[in-house]
Amino acid sequence: MCGIVGYIGHKQAKDTLIKGLEVLEYRGYDSAGIALATKNGAKLYKEKGRIASLKEAINGDVSGMTGIGHTRWATHGKPSKANAHPHQSQNKRFTLVHNGVVDNYQQLKRDYLPDKHFASDTDSEVIVQLVEYFSEKGKSTDEAFRQTLSLLHGSYAIVLMDNENADAIYAGKNKSPLLIGTGSGENVVASDTMAMLTVTKEFIEIHDEEAAVVTNDDVQLKKLDGTLVHRESFQAEIDEADTEKGTYSHFMLKEIDEQPAVIRNIIQEYQNKDGNIKLEKDIRTALEETDRIYIMAAGTSYHAGLIGKELLEKVAKKPTEVHIASEFLYDEPMLSENPLFVFISQSGETADCRGVLVRVKKQGYRTLTVTNVPGSTLSREADFTLHTHAGPEIAVASTKAYTAQMSVLAILAMDCAHAQGMNSDFDAMKELGLVASVMDTICDQKDIMEQVARDYMADTRNCFFIGRSLDYHVVLEGALKLKEISYVQAEGFAGGELKHGTIALIEEGTPVVAVTTQPHVNRNTRSNAQEVMARGANACFISTEETREEGDQIVLPTVHRLLTPLITALPLQLIAYYAAMHRGCDVDKPRNLAKSVTVE
Ligand code: GLU
Repeated sequence: MCGIVGYIGHKQAKDTLIKGLEVLEYRGYDSAGIALATKNGAKLYKEKGRIASLKEAINGDVSGMTGIGHTRWATHGKPSKANAHPHQSQNKRFTLVHNGVVDNYQQLKRDYLPDKHFASDTDSEVIVQLVEYFSEKGKSTDEAFRQTLSLLHGSYAIVLMDNENADAIYAGKNKSPLLIGTGSGENVVASDTMAMLTVTKEFIEIHDEEAAVVTNDDVQLKKLDGTLVHRESFQAEIDEADTEKGTYSHFMLKEIDEQPAVIRNIIQEYQNKDGNIKLEKDIRTALEETDRIYIMAAGTSYHAGLIGKELLEKVAKKPTEVHIASEFLYDEPMLSENPLFVFISQSGETADCRGVLVRVKKQGYRTLTVTNVPGSTLSREADFTLHTHAGPEIAVASTKAYTAQMSVLAILAMDCAHAQGMNSDFDAMKELGLVASVMDTICDQKDIMEQVARDYMADTRNCFFIGRSLDYHVVLEGALKLKEISYVQAEGFAGGELKHGTIALIEEGTPVVAVTTQPHVNRNTRSNAQEVMARGANACFISTEETREEGDQIVLPTVHRLLTPLITALPLQLIAYYAAMHRGCDVDKPRNLAKSVTVE
């Protein structure tokens, strides 16, 4: 995970690096550092903790027009100043930042670097030591860098500086994201486009196993064997304002509030002037021809995938399976004759999904990515992409990307029905329009959710969420949201399942949130809630006008049954948000987490 950035140009690099790292902080935040090129070699500033601590440590004017920076999510070696990037080679000639995991770092150490002194416990340090090793053997820095990259197994995005040539920075990638931003008399390299918006909106992709030599006015891209690569740049559509909180105290709250606008945006993006769905013809053909859809995802996207399955099976009668990508990767189940693989990933960089994508492409199967980042790796490498149009999601806990994914899957399901010539009465666009209006209403009722958070979650140790049918899939997400940001041990259960063991954990006052929006199982979920209440649980009910009963704490307007997850998501997100606030947690950057999980 982690965020990296490099700058070379006519301005002081520090400002661009720090600004870039602040934008990238969602990717990791257990330590941070920068290195600046000076007459006397690279000068390093590193600190454990957040970028704010690094800024304090730098404290004052430091100069250098070439520099690199890193915000870390530790994989090898605990979060500490010594393990924080940048790392330097033994003779301090080379300085590097790395995102990813070098699987064979111990082997490389043994084979090439038995005599080098290592200053950290990271896998990353082996890279910079190897560059120095090959350079000492007479290779140019460009060659030494590419030779090093060709030895690495695993994932990497790297930016490297050389004391003997401050007029260039070296960048390379495999599996982890990295792009080059091209400015005027200045160039920048970073893990995502948002981190470079202070310099440019024009970018060049670096593909896997490619390396670049970047100067202030030139970018030279090569394959690892030295073959030159020519790639056109592209303009990013994002706006710098999208990466700022504005008047909100947290990105999470801003992003929750953005959901109605995101849904309206999706409707607009996927609708023709005549009101029909606008999807590539080839996607429709793939949907028509496949005999089974395999959804691959992780975390919140997996929860969106569960709803996607319901939509595809109920609206389009298309058999669909949902898999946790990291499980599928090492244990492929029996496949149908003509599968279509659908990858759901907010960032489009999720390592587990990528692993599956690479494999099923080799097997010759068709692939489609649902992502919020169109130029991302999963988007580039799949046959088709559906963009979720949610705008940058900065808070680590996903909110608007989740509801956007479900909306796009609803549109996909409707198109799948049409592709098969079915006469479905499910009008995704009309129903999503209604969902957006209901979301507006819910966003205006935050005081109710705040009260629930106060009444039920203020000082509890654990919390259970129950629901049946679609509500079951939503409570999995509700529990994940709560545990991610408030550290309350929260679990989502199918209503009928709690009594098969977990009910043993119910004590006097244990909060249980019962989501009951589905008329056909309303009674059953309420009975399950009674069972835990009889054992002392403090139950909170979330229902709709159709399923409501007297005393329900949160009653939502009714929308199409298959789309209720889109609206129940909001109170659950808001409850988690206020619970975290009341418990004094860092809502946008919860401990141990990072967005965009680019390591397996
Ligand atoms: N593996 C490296 C480390 O633990 C980089 C981790 C990251 O990508 O944040 O320092």
